[in-house]
This record gives sequence, C-alpha cells and structure tokens, in this order.
Amino acid sequence: MTHIAFIGLGAMGSGMAANLAKAGNVVQAFDLSPDAVALAIAHGCEGAKSIADSVGQAQVVVTMLPAGAHVRSVYTDEDGVLAHCAKGALLLDCSTISVLDARFLSEAAKVAGFDMCDAPVSGGVAAARSGMLTFMVGGTTSAFEQAQPVLADMGKAVLRAGDAGAGQAAKICNNMLLAVSMIGTCEAFILAEKLGLDKQSFFDIASQSSGQNWSITSYAPVPGLVPNAPSNRNFTNGFAGSLMLKDLRLAMEASRAVHAATPMGIKAEEIYSEYVSNYSSDRDFSGVIDMLREE
Ligand code: NAD
Repeated sequence: MTHIAFIGLGAMGSGMAANLAKAGNVVQAFDLSPDAVALAIAHGCEGAKSIADSVGQAQVVVTMLPAGAHVRSVYTDEDGVLAHCAKGALLLDCSTISVLDARFLSEAAKVAGFDMCDAPVSGGVAAARSGMLTFMVGGTTSAFEQAQPVLADMGKAVLRAGDAGAGQAAKICNNMLLAVSMIGTCEAFILAEKLGLDKQSFFDIASQSSGQNWSITSYAPVPGLVPNAPSNRNFTNGFAGSLMLKDLRLAMEASRAVHAATPMGIKAEEIYSEYVSNYSSDRDFSGVIDMLREE
C-alpha cells in the first residue's frame, strides 16, 4: 500500500486516480474543481483541500495537468509540491509537456531533494479508465524502478525511454509519426475512392501490403472497416484533434530547438491547425479525412 498524492483529476486523471485506489493505494486527490474531487472520492480516493494537503504524507506524487505552465506552477509555486512534499517522495508527471519543461522540472526537483520522472501516456480516456495506458518514462534507472509498480497500477506497459525529458521526447516523436501516418492514410483512402476502388478491397490490400500502418488497421478513418474506430461514430469520443495539435506544436518546438528536418511534421501541424479551426476541437483526429475530402 503506497500513499499517493494525485493532482489533476480531469478526463484522464480521474480514471487514473480511481485505478490507483482500486489497486489498494491510499490516494489523496486534488483538483481545482471541487466536482472532480467529489468524483474521485466516489471512486475510492480521499479528497484533499489543497496541493499542500495532498502531498504532506505522500510517498509518490502523480500529476496529470493540461500543459507545461500548469505543471510548472503546481510544482514550483510557493504553495506547490516542491515546497510542501514529504521528504523522499518520488514525483511523477504524466501530463504531456515540452521536453524543456520536463528537464527544467526534473532539475528543480533534484535541487529540492526529490527524484522526478516524466511519464507521459499513450492511450486516451478509455485506456485511462480501464488501466490500459502505455507510459513512456524519462528519469534515472533507480527512479524508474520505484515508479514502475505505481505506473503499472494504471497501465498495460511501462517503458523507460532514457533520462529526464526522454519520456516526453518519445511521446512527441510517436505522435508526430501518428499524425503524418493518419494524414497519409486519409489521402490514400480519398484517392482510392476517386479511382473507383471499393473501400473494403483497398483496406484488405493495404492492410497486407507495404502501406500497412496502425492508422489503417486499428483506426481506419473510413467507417465500417475497423470495429470501435471513431469513424464509425462520426468521430466522437476519440483522440481530439486539438490534443493532436498540441502534441504537434510541442514536436515542432522541439524540432526547431535541435535543428531536426521534419518537413512532414510541419505540414501535419498546418493541416491539424486548419482542422481544429474548421471543425469542433474535440472531434477525433482521424476526422481530418472530411476536411481533406472537401479540399
Ligand atoms: P483535462 O483538462 O480534462 O484535465 C486537467 C485537470 O487538471 C482539470 O480537472 C483541471 O481542473 C486540473 N488542474 C488544472 N490546473 C490545476 C492546478 N493548478 N491544480 C490542480 N488541478 C489543476 O485534461 P486531460 O484530457 O485529462 O489531459 C491531461 C494531460 O494528459 C494533458 O497534458 C494531455 O495532453 C494528456 N493526454 C490526454 C489524452 C486524452 O485523450 N485526453 C491522451 C493522452 C495524453
């Protein structure tokens, strides 16, 4: 039984905190939203009144916050985690933030006497609820070993990517690849349609040929081909285009910082920026096929 402080009980964090409680940990849950805290209590957590209240007894702190600015503030403000956390606690940030922010926070934690890992996730709200997330972890090997059992209570795979920031690097590289492959998959389906190919025939052939990729076989942007793909439900309840755009922006910021050539990443950012402006921001990212079809 581990004492865990969980901060950020939103779409992802609520399911993750519930799974930690279900696994027998004592979870002190905090969010700015009292409704989110009430829901966490209903799921077996204890409700905390503030960050200081949640982290005072914690052996492990888990944060799942919207973006880098929130994570910096939650850790480094006067009333934040670093100022109030129990000595020896392990800090795990599961939010998606920039590599630079993750490295900054790891260093600030080290100065304050704490080990910290960046541990962003792959998998959406459904995976957070069912405990099927994949964690990509950046941190020392000893911090990773301590983090492993806690993260395993919330996921199906816990993988060390390297030192501080490496988890975020793996996350944005993976999601840049996903965005590019999804756009390519949409283009292939649109061209196939215009050339008179039956969608099922093209799906069967591409699934077993060199164009095969996850965006076709697990998440086809055309309905009726892959059970449970968001295309079957008009692109609702999937991975929001706005979150894909957030990840692409982080990837392009990192790419510029290290002078990497990512022309397809730049184009994907442009396309998703247009998609999010033209359609509702919570529409699934594979729905970009509709925008490309119109063009
Ligand atoms: P969300 O906006 O639903 O939840 C964030 C929660 O943090 C909110 O409940 C908010 O009240 C709380 N919060 C903000 N500032 C706070 C503070 N100072 N103190 C305490 N609580 C605070 O976001 P989400 O969809 O749960 O995403 C969380 C992170 O996970 C993001 O970084 C996102 O990019 C990443 N992510 C999301 C998904 C997804 O499908 N939603 C998938 C993978 C990764």
